[in-house]
Amino acid sequence: MLRDSFGRVATDLRVSLTDKCNLRCTYCMPPEGLDWLPNAQLLTADEIVRLVAIGVERLGITEVRYTGGEPLLRRELPDIVARTAALEPKPQLSLTTNAIGLARLAPALAEAGLDRVNVSLDTLDRDTFQRLSHRDRHADVIAGLAAADEAGLRPVKINTVLMRGLNDHEAVPLLRFCLDKGYELRFIEQMPLDAQHGWSRENMVTADEILGLLSGAFDLTVDDVEERGSAPAERFLVDGGPARVGVIGSVTRPFCGACDRVRLTADGQVRNCLFATEESDLKTPMRAGASDDELAERWIAAVARKRPGHGIDDPSFLQPARPMSAIGG
Ligand code: SAM
Repeated sequence: MLRDSFGRVATDLRVSLTDKCNLRCTYCMPPEGLDWLPNAQLLTADEIVRLVAIGVERLGITEVRYTGGEPLLRRELPDIVARTAALEPKPQLSLTTNAIGLARLAPALAEAGLDRVNVSLDTLDRDTFQRLSHRDRHADVIAGLAAADEAGLRPVKINTVLMRGLNDHEAVPLLRFCLDKGYELRFIEQMPLDAQHGWSRENMVTADEILGLLSGAFDLTVDDVEERGSAPAERFLVDGGPARVGVIGSVTRPFCGACDRVRLTADGQVRNCLFATEESDLKTPMRAGASDDELAERWIAAVARKRPGHGIDDPSFLQPARPMSAIGG
């Protein structure tokens, strides 16, 4: 098992398939993009499948989420999904994506064994989308969402980051849109993970503010407090339910004490926290011929060193050297 020294057990693996992205969301990277990892440094599909298999078959991983960068940019994605869906016991497989290209790929991914998707959507307005992501692709995202739903990749969850003066007036319309379509919306507080280091606490729209915005239009009641477990989102029934909305207060309401996640970067580094400043290399020993047992041992040691919390509120907090797109969100 992947147990840390505080007794938390990691069962949820986030695998970044690439650091590249076809959007330039302001909270993530600059308009000109970043220096992408050279292809030779990226794990191959075979290497990814091998490491996921070690995680699932030996280390107690039960959920695998493919992310990036933009995971749909990785051509082998359906193959990676199919091969990891065939593992025993079969892990829950999901994808965090901007949905560009999902309109075409959703049926193949469902067929390959993907269970569901989390789609990032911060606005219902084409111009705001362009201002926020520096690309005119809003229609592709909406089409991708519909295709995911149609293909049965449910519940279709939507992740939204609100930014002051940009899209914070859209909290209510976004929730109405999701209620109408049957998607489950989760608002995420903006975190200090952008490559430009432009995050500021004052500009972050907090969980309290989000709930205030929504409460003006909807009746929200706390849902399943006891069942929250390791889930980062505090969930609320909307107008009595059954529809729900989630708020992920990563900064102001941290859930580190219940964290069950571990991350694998596109270049084969284990990260025991989104905000970790240290990584453990699995790629180099794997390419040097390490056995599955040796790789599992390294992975166990990496998780054992996990810190109690992300420490954003600590005066000594340092933003990780890698931005979100290179860690895998
Ligand atoms: N490209 C995919 C996508 O758009 O979902 C996957 C990678 S993206 C880094 C994963 C998630 O991280 C998205 O929902 C995005 O909104 C979120 N994200 C990126 N930077 C963030 C930040 N600074 N604070 C909070 N969430 C962030």
